[in-house]
Amino acid sequence: MTSRYKRLLLKVSGEGFARKGETGLDVERVRALAEQLKKLTAEGVEIACVIGGGNILRGTQSSDLGIDRATADYMGMLATVINGLALCDALEAHGVPTRVLSAIEVNKVCEPFIRRRALRHMEKGRVVVLAGGLGSPYFTTDTAAAQRAVELGCDVLLKATMVDGVYDSDPNENPDAAHIPELSFTEVLDRQLRVMDQTAFAMCRENGLSLMVFNMECPDGVVRAAAGENVGTVIQN
Ligand code: UDP
Repeated sequence: MTSRYKRLLLKVSGEGFARKGETGLDVERVRALAEQLKKLTAEGVEIACVIGGGNILRGTQSSDLGIDRATADYMGMLATVINGLALCDALEAHGVPTRVLSAIEVNKVCEPFIRRRALRHMEKGRVVVLAGGLGSPYFTTDTAAAQRAVELGCDVLLKATMVDGVYDSDPNENPDAAHIPELSFTEVLDRQLRVMDQTAFAMCRENGLSLMVFNMECPDGVVRAAAGENVGTVIQN
């Protein structure tokens, strides 16, 4: 299968790194993702991967934890570094050269995020795993994914999540919820559909960055999405 895109940004939610309904890391899932990324790098596709941290901690849980929100957000960002290191290890075990670049400095284990360095790594065929979100509290890794995709000149944002794409209502609450394969940015706004958080969505819309939302459990989903097959929901202008 040949990729449609030269450079892509893959956003993987932290949940995709854990067993269904559980927290923590499921190494098998991380390995399965690494196998798919290996296929794409073999075709010469440049890949930046933004990792979530929801399998370990989300800042919005701060009040449940009795922790200050900003502190909990920094904890969430550190969680993404843990996931990033796990993905880096799995990729290297598959022979794929990789660098973890973090927006918050954790110099013992990864490089700081520097745009030109990230670009250079990708040109050299290294997968860049972007950890630490944007490095600031009150943001999400979806927003980091949209921002980095624009900053790094990626052709598309592939958002691998735990649902099959966008529905007209919440499929977990409404058994009759209908899947929508294609949408424009305006339709998402008019129909008040939930795709990603508003900051992330605005970043994609304002910069004309096409995105595809799909289920991480879809067989070879990342490879097929990169080939241009609609395996979930495509949102574009
Ligand atoms: N986070 C943050 N700033 C960022 C990115 C992430 O504060 O730029 C924190 C925030 O607490 C978030 C957590 O890191 O809840 C984990 O990221 P996210 O919830 O986006 O992960 P996902 O839902 O994709 O697993």
